[in-house]
Amino acid sequence: MNPKEAAEERFNAVVDELEEISRWMYDHPEIAFEEKETSARLVEFLRGNGFEVEYPSFGLSTAFAARVGTGGPEVVICAEYDALPEVGHACGHNIIATAALGAGVALATMVEDLGIRLRIQGTPAEEAYGGKIDLIRAGAFQGATMSMMIHPSPSDVVDPAFLGVAHIDVEFHGKETHAAFAPQLGINALDAAVQAYVNISTLRQSLYPTDKIHGVITYGGGAPNVIPAFTSMAWYVRAATKERLEELYGRVLDCFAAAATATGCTHEVKERGHTYVDLISDPLLVELYAANSEALGRPMGRGADADPSAAGSTDMGNVSHEIPAIHPMLDIKSLPAVNHQKEFAAATITPPGDKAIRDGALAMAWTVIDVATRNRWHELRDIAPPR
Ligand SMILES: [Zn+2]
Ligand SMILES: [Zn+2]
Repeated sequence: MNPKEAAEERFNAVVDELEEISRWMYDHPEIAFEEKETSARLVEFLRGNGFEVEYPSFGLSTAFAARVGTGGPEVVICAEYDALPEVGHACGHNIIATAALGAGVALATMVEDLGIRLRIQGTPAEEAYGGKIDLIRAGAFQGATMSMMIHPSPSDVVDPAFLGVAHIDVEFHGKETHAAFAPQLGINALDAAVQAYVNISTLRQSLYPTDKIHGVITYGGGAPNVIPAFTSMAWYVRAATKERLEELYGRVLDCFAAAATATGCTHEVKERGHTYVDLISDPLLVELYAANSEALGRPMGRGADADPSAAGSTDMGNVSHEIPAIHPMLDIKSLPAVNHQKEFAAATITPPGDKAIRDGALAMAWTVIDVATRNRWHELRDIAPPR
């Protein structure tokens, strides 16, 4: 039996259990950094299938690192498992986690023959904060050779575009006064917030279609007859590359500063969570994954053919700047529902949802087999060691 057939046979032996875990996760959604029961259940499965598991790992209480193999290049398959408030597993991280487990089991018994070390890395809090960025800082990807994960979606795309994103909170401070009796004594912090909004709206004229800036006023004042001394806003700034994100971020900060200056206010900028950078898909892994997926009956579309403006963000982007990585999107036939809608969560536990677990797990496992058995490690993208 060749290694790909052997991997499929191993996967088939656990597929029922994986589908059951996916449904259990759907019924027990836990949000970012609260994935206690979920991580415990995934760890139990991996321990039962021969993995040496470090849990918690890399300083995060709901992260785990499940390892097999004694030598050779280290392959890291990422498992996300956080849900969203209100809408549960509406991003389908139950499929991501179980596909990662499936790929792990498919490969576990052959790692010595392949000459690799395999790690299933549990990565909490993708939907908020950016748990992978904490993991990167704790050294989770240092020395690893490649990384991959799959993500459910309304379409099949092997190398989707993901934008970098920075999350910014800004506060304006002025001076309250009676709005009718002594308005000349006030410094209006609401004027600063409105001016900031207008400045950024004006900036939009000179943006690329992949630049996105969206914000809200989170506190706008307490009463019409009191000039507000305090206002706050929350903004997301997104761009197609790390460099462009830095540039755009600076322009947005200028908009805040100008608004403060014009209104006589002071202001304070705080970043919330980590900055996610764009996703760089490794060309060799893209090519191999696409061929393996096609062999499984799921031909993959290309990111270049999709609307470049229709993109979100992922902390896997940051991983892809550290080591060669891919993050293919797998169709679960959810349309008209898209990610972050309740109907999308429901689609994760249908037969097309289960098929994404299977196709994702096997295409990842077969891609690892291709790289290892054809010794193509040197063709992976060369990434400068992190500064
Ligand atoms: Zn999401
Ligand atoms: Zn997601």
